[in-house]
Amino acid sequence: MGPLGHFAVGMAVKPAAPKVPLGILLLATEIPDILAVTFGYVGIEKAGAVLPWSHGLFMCVVWSGLVAVLAGRRYRDYREGAIVGLMVLSHWVLDVISHPIPFGSFSWRSWHWDYGHPLPSDLPLLFAKSPTVGLGLYNRISAVEATVLETGMFVLGMIVYRRYIQKRKP
Ligand SMILES: [Zn+2]
Repeated sequence: MGPLGHFAVGMAVKPAAPKVPLGILLLATEIPDILAVTFGYVGIEKAGAVLPWSHGLFMCVVWSGLVAVLAGRRYRDYREGAIVGLMVLSHWVLDVISHPIPFGSFSWRSWHWDYGHPLPSDLPLLFAKSPTVGLGLYNRISAVEATVLETGMFVLGMIVYRRYIQKRKP
């Protein structure tokens, strides 16, 4: 899933984590993608292949736990820290629903990808040669429909966040 869908979760969860800045929650939802870019850059992962270190279930649980502990210490609240950690895991859950994505055929100009043809699932449970999963929602809908879906999620998240901010005003 793209950043809009992931950010939606970060905004929607803000009322449950008042001590954590919104930016940190949003950042946490994107950690697997940030890791994928970083690991791709240093050569630990290869673009287009399975990404076990950034997008494997096992490592996402590890990153999530690590982020939960760091955030718990930083904000002196382990319940809210756990919520920040869960944002990392929420990335994996949304990616399982949406992947595999036919991004190889995506055109930025026409905002189109060739969906519907079989694609191998690309989210490993453990490491490189472990079983992979993915429900493939984005291989069943067009790039425009996926964008509408994520924009809708983003707006819903924004509504939850706005209501929370307004309620907090004296
Ligand atoms: Zn991702």
